[in-house]
Amino acid sequence: MAAEILDGKAIAAALRQRVADVVARRRDGGRPAPGLATVLVGDDAASHVYVGRKRKACEEAGIRSIHHELPGDVSQPELVALVAELDRDPEVDGILVQMPLPDHIDQDAVLAEISAGKDVDGLTPVNAGHLAQGRIGVREALDLEAEAPPVGLVPCTPAGVIEILDRSGVEIGGAEAVVVGRSILVGRPMASLLVNANATVTVCHSRTRDLAATCRRADVLVAAVGRPEMIGGDWIKPGATVIDVGMNRTEEGLVGDVDFAAASAAAGRITPVPGGVGPMTIAMLLANTVRASR
Ligand code: NAP
Repeated sequence: MAAEILDGKAIAAALRQRVADVVARRRDGGRPAPGLATVLVGDDAASHVYVGRKRKACEEAGIRSIHHELPGDVSQPELVALVAELDRDPEVDGILVQMPLPDHIDQDAVLAEISAGKDVDGLTPVNAGHLAQGRIGVREALDLEAEAPPVGLVPCTPAGVIEILDRSGVEIGGAEAVVVGRSILVGRPMASLLVNANATVTVCHSRTRDLAATCRRADVLVAAVGRPEMIGGDWIKPGATVIDVGMNRTEEGLVGDVDFAAASAAAGRITPVPGGVGPMTIAMLLANTVRASR
């Protein structure tokens, strides 16, 4: 039987509406709209498209967008000074520096200027530490109504994956979960969120010996590799939930890390590319901005 398609677009639209409602209620109560600062360096076409989508989504949700564009040859001190200024600015609740940065820029030095409370990408060591130490679970990561400041902010893409699983009724507690990829942006925080939700988690990477056999154990398989259609249908445990984070531009268009057609035949549930995890990333960015504005 073909797998159920998990509709990330619809789940993301519902989350964006929840964000818009929270923002509208706060403005009705006389409180300012949250503000998200975006910093874009250079003329990478994909980065311009991503930041443009994020700013449009902010506008639609009633979040103020504060945008800065810098040339690709901007100096490290100039970029660091801008981010430090945004961090001090009380009108700015969240800061997003679009990655990748040009080779001459030290990414860590730039991120070091962002306080944990404004780190809507969840990339600072403080936020990563809270997540790794189990202080942020699924509920905390998605709680838009809390009045208290959040304990920590979680990277948008893995938080979006958890929201898809949660909204689709996938049982995470006690499940065998396999995450392929160990990046700071996706794989590692994904593994922490799954552990915090009581899954038994295996993290795979380029040195994993028998990747196919490990994937075959997964009740929940998350692919975040960046290799087009690497995960084949015979790597999927029958009935498993398959989450494809991959976004690979090929001559045939955008494809994921999973061979969708083959995997759909074995999986119980699967996210498509596009229309799966991608839309969740932007929705979670809005949610994180609301959380950061507490
Ligand atoms: P990344 O930083 O390049 O990390 C890729 C990970 O995959 C690394 O841990 C790497 O292992 C592992 N890997 C590479 N080749 C492998 C192989 N043959 N077998 C097993 N593991 C392998 O990428 P990322 O930033 O995590 O992104 C992963 C994918 O998600 C990309 O396609 C990216 O475009 C996509 N993405 C999508 C969204 C979204 O919104 N949907 C957001 C972010 C990223 P090592 O650590 O050993 O090198």
